[in-house]
Amino acid sequence: MATTLGVCNLCEAICGLVLEVEDGRVTSVRGNPDDPLSRGHVCPKGTALPDIEQDPDRLRRPVRRVGPAGEPRWEEIGWDEAIELAVTGLADTIERHGADSVAVYLGNPNVHSLGAMTHGAQVAKAIGSRNTYSATSVDQLPHQLVAHLMFGHQLLLPIPDLDRTDYFLVFGANPMASNGSLMTVPAFPERLRSLKARGGRMVLFDPRRTETAKAADEHHFIRPGTDAVVLLAMVNLVLSEGRAVPPAYVDGVDAVREAVAEFTPELAERVSGVPAEVLRRVTTEYAEAGAAAAYGRIGVSTQQFGTVCVWAVNCLNILTGNLDRPGGVMFTSPAIDIVGRGIIGRGHHDRWRSRVRNLPESNGELPVSTLADEILTPGEGQVRAALTVSGNPVLSTPDGKRLGEALQGLDFMVAVDIYLNETTRHADVVLPTTTALERDHYDLVFHALAVRNTSRFTPAVLPKPPGARHDWEIFRDLALGLLARQDKRHPLKKRLVTEARLRLSPTRIVDLLLRTGGSKLSVRALRKAPSGVDLGPLRPSLPERLQTKDGRIDLAPELVLRDLARVRDHLQPPAADELLLIGRRHQRDCNSWLHNTRRLTKGKARHQLYMHPDDLDVRGIADGSPVEVASRVGKVTVEVRATDEMMPGVVSLPHGYGHATSPGTAAASELPGVSINDLTDPERLDVSGNAAFSAVPVRVAAC
Ligand code: SF4
Repeated sequence: MATTLGVCNLCEAICGLVLEVEDGRVTSVRGNPDDPLSRGHVCPKGTALPDIEQDPDRLRRPVRRVGPAGEPRWEEIGWDEAIELAVTGLADTIERHGADSVAVYLGNPNVHSLGAMTHGAQVAKAIGSRNTYSATSVDQLPHQLVAHLMFGHQLLLPIPDLDRTDYFLVFGANPMASNGSLMTVPAFPERLRSLKARGGRMVLFDPRRTETAKAADEHHFIRPGTDAVVLLAMVNLVLSEGRAVPPAYVDGVDAVREAVAEFTPELAERVSGVPAEVLRRVTTEYAEAGAAAAYGRIGVSTQQFGTVCVWAVNCLNILTGNLDRPGGVMFTSPAIDIVGRGIIGRGHHDRWRSRVRNLPESNGELPVSTLADEILTPGEGQVRAALTVSGNPVLSTPDGKRLGEALQGLDFMVAVDIYLNETTRHADVVLPTTTALERDHYDLVFHALAVRNTSRFTPAVLPKPPGARHDWEIFRDLALGLLARQDKRHPLKKRLVTEARLRLSPTRIVDLLLRTGGSKLSVRALRKAPSGVDLGPLRPSLPERLQTKDGRIDLAPELVLRDLARVRDHLQPPAADELLLIGRRHQRDCNSWLHNTRRLTKGKARHQLYMHPDDLDVRGIADGSPVEVASRVGKVTVEVRATDEMMPGVVSLPHGYGHATSPGTAAASELPGVSINDLTDPERLDVSGNAAFSAVPVRVAAC
């Protein structure tokens, strides 16, 4: 038996691991206490990491569909044939119908894989389609748009300095279950205990009494979709009560003062259910705490006013002097600075619009809520083929059922994925990658979003299985094949540079980036410190780190202030018989996957519709009985669970379920449940184009 160090890259917490390996198999996983960021933390998903590597459902060779899309049968084929099939299908479509006729969808795991980060974009570039989509527009697009507008770069995101803050003000986030998002914070429970031990407080607003709410000093129910009004009232209070102390490099304070003046605590109380006196007290405590951090995540990002919410959170931090202050929110100083070095672009918005619904692009991607429209609507530029990479948008994007039907009608589809699932079952060819334990890892993105500056390179724990390919090798071969077919579109010199780059391994690229980044680190140096190198706490960096053209922060971006009118127009309460649907996540869930591992699905059922007992009583529904939930888009039947965890008037289904209704896929597991995205509505969008999953109006009735 050998002991080795590894990393879990299933979620943003990037925990360091200690693994026991016997006869080429990982037999145990525990947290690495010497990891300077994760400090020994591991969650149930991390211990299930070997289940993925050993999963009998996992594809180990490329497969080609031989049956019709509705009743697929699969046959294994060799790599050369599979790549040729994929390149030919995509290139033929481009030649016949143009580049925009091929849609590209990149799922969430891409950002967790080094090879996808270094090589994945080259495939999308080689295709060159404006119909490019990703999980960004069902998750964090408002954060990226606001960061671009205020700080000049889509990934210059303020990170709570959790280890030093005295007051943590949270909207719509559940870090006890998630360990942070757009805030890499492994061991959140331990860090929260430290916060309390030094006399700090956490105050949370959420429509459900979540695991984090139970650990908070204060939790207040807030009606879903109304966070914007509450946050605007808090910004108004800070400005009108003379508490604003903006730094000298901030412009637009007066414009914000004028724009938020109508959003009073009393208005916020009527709309959100949060008492005005609570808002006044919490705003005062937060502004006077000395070192305070305001933070909002999924509940505020994935709603109709996500951009306004994220902007208002930033305004609170900036106006109270908590931006760039130890214990406030700060920008990170990673060893590989993906922001400052331009490794990821600054971002842009509305350079072009989608064909069918005239929706704006962001950073080169269109909102995935309109992907089905682009496939199903005939005409010039119609999508006829698709490439999906590590994603299951049929379960994870609004009105997924319609998207599944759309994918079934495509002329051609390629999936890069280790599973046959509700999305990839529509592919003509599926190209499986190695799994995380079988490849080197350096986290390019999440070191840049972490509550502490650290750097860690993790060599593959297990050897690459014979005949397997890493994701970057698949991206390389697809991109090279497509470039060879399209030599007229790509000048020779540019093609040669791209080819040379594609042939560099991800590890070599990381080494080059480390050696040229001023951190005095290299892959060799990091191999000698396998638990990782501690680069210290977050440190002040403004205004130098701003990426705006004038080196200043615009507190009043026009796009955001214009959207306040839309907030004003949506202040009416839901209809009397309507309930507002929100999602939820469990520590044992990883979006739409890992639902076929016994280790993570055993135990108490967690698929039910959560509903307040009063809402059940009024409808004459018994706890535990099946109910029909209907929205504008569709209906599902699921068991209901009575719980006063829910705010009255609000119901909740978990995100990423619904495999049981998808026979023939690898993950048609014992896990019951329905897909919340058979109810969510692709017409409900934030101004950024992000899907509005929260506050979907539904009706619930006994079956
Ligand atoms: S919190 Fe869990 S899933 Fe996330 S990185 Fe750590 S062990 Fe993995």
